[in-house]
Amino acid sequence: MTTTASATPTPAPTVEYGELLARARELQEQLRAWRREIHRYPELTFTEQRTAALVNATLISLGIPTETEVAKTGVVGHIRGGDGPVVGLRADMDALPITEINGTDFDSTRPGIMHACGHDAHTAMLLGAATILKGLADEGRLPGSVRLLFQPSEENQDEEGKSGGMRMVEEGALAGLDAVFGLHVDPSHDTGIVATREGPMMAAADMFRLVIHGSGGHAARPQAAVDPIVLASHVILAIQQVVSRRLDPLEPGVITVGTINGGTVNNVIPDSVEMTGTIRSFSHEARLKLHEELRRAAGVAEALGGRFDLEIQWGYPPSVNSPEATAVAVAGMSALLGAENVRVADQVMGAEDFSYMAQQAPGCFIRVGVHDPAWGDQVYNVHRADFRMDENALPIGAATLAAAALTWMRDKRKS
Ligand SMILES: [Zn+2]
Ligand SMILES: [Zn+2]
Repeated sequence: MTTTASATPTPAPTVEYGELLARARELQEQLRAWRREIHRYPELTFTEQRTAALVNATLISLGIPTETEVAKTGVVGHIRGGDGPVVGLRADMDALPITEINGTDFDSTRPGIMHACGHDAHTAMLLGAATILKGLADEGRLPGSVRLLFQPSEENQDEEGKSGGMRMVEEGALAGLDAVFGLHVDPSHDTGIVATREGPMMAAADMFRLVIHGSGGHAARPQAAVDPIVLASHVILAIQQVVSRRLDPLEPGVITVGTINGGTVNNVIPDSVEMTGTIRSFSHEARLKLHEELRRAAGVAEALGGRFDLEIQWGYPPSVNSPEATAVAVAGMSALLGAENVRVADQVMGAEDFSYMAQQAPGCFIRVGVHDPAWGDQVYNVHRADFRMDENALPIGAATLAAAALTWMRDKRKS
């Protein structure tokens, strides 16, 4: 190996993708141990102290400088390689308010909290990628730098309406990045399969609260009241026509009323009815259109003699993969796993706060298959008390993140 003191430095030997995968597979036991440790002690939104401490201690033991308490409970690590591009790699660390029913020896030890979305695996995969990339940097074979973004609270927002990804962006953790990559476990694909797509991949998700005001009274004297339950019924039907009649049929959208509450007893007309729901869309234009048309639908209450209050809380923007970052990710993953194992991801109406990061630098979000082929047709979906994953996917996720970073660095050095 040449040293930096050499007057005419020899170019560093390149890294072949087979080597990346082999290094990741050597980490299998370590990856499993990290994942299970995090799985046993899940932590909710912005309380990920234990997980952050594990991440921080691991990065320090690898010789990677860190910043802690980023976005409250997040950790950022810096791997310095050559003077090429700086690539961000992101993992989320939070769990869900679900009680696990799997009965394994690494089940959650915390009743009511479970890693049911696989963020324990994402954290372990990024620690694995960090191990591989730091190794390459130490050997003088990493042409650029990597910023490791371990974010809190992907699933939820704090009292100020901010999620972990949004706070990471606000605190400057993404500043100066040339690209950013993230991934999510996907129980619909077998282990060994990865998937992504250019453009919008996941939806914007906004929340609304709508109160229909009438005028209460005796249930037997409706003529003396304005019944908000009947008004709300008309409003709900009008809302159902927003997507079918007011939105471009080629544009995806959803408005769902998730709760409806009004009244206390069978013989009283109440004063008001409250409902809450979610609005999903894939583009800014569709998003604005749905907000406007929801307001118009609520106006049916006014036409019938009532009033309404509508609050719309803006949530995560759509997750949009940049063509540039997606091309790099697909090239890297094809070299790593074979082109036949790289699929075009379906668009889904779920939302992801990686979307904030992908607004800061060319970004690509990747799905990593975690379905054990031995399970056959049985799928253990995320956000369920019986969610489970094939841990053989852990090295694939780690290698995928490392390959995306390395491919971006090489690609940008060529151009
Ligand atoms: Zn989730
Ligand atoms: Zn998730």
